[in-house]
Amino acid sequence: MQDMEDWRKEVVDTGVTHCPSCKSTDLLMGACAVGAMTVHQEFICNGCQFEFKAMYAIAFYYPD
Ligand SMILES: [Zn+2]
Repeated sequence: MQDMEDWRKEVVDTGVTHCPSCKSTDLLMGACAVGAMTVHQEFICNGCQFEFKAMYAIAFYYPD
């Protein structure tokens, strides 16, 4: 199992979310919870059925 920090770095570097268990990029996106500072996205891996959530943090605003 890839640790959280290694996983984050690799996802940011590649721009592709992958499974921290088997590294498959064949992921099913589940529910998404939007908070004031974060967004939590559920993923289910189609390769190994591992279920995990990715947390996205606020970065900046831009005018619409
Ligand atoms: Zn997997």
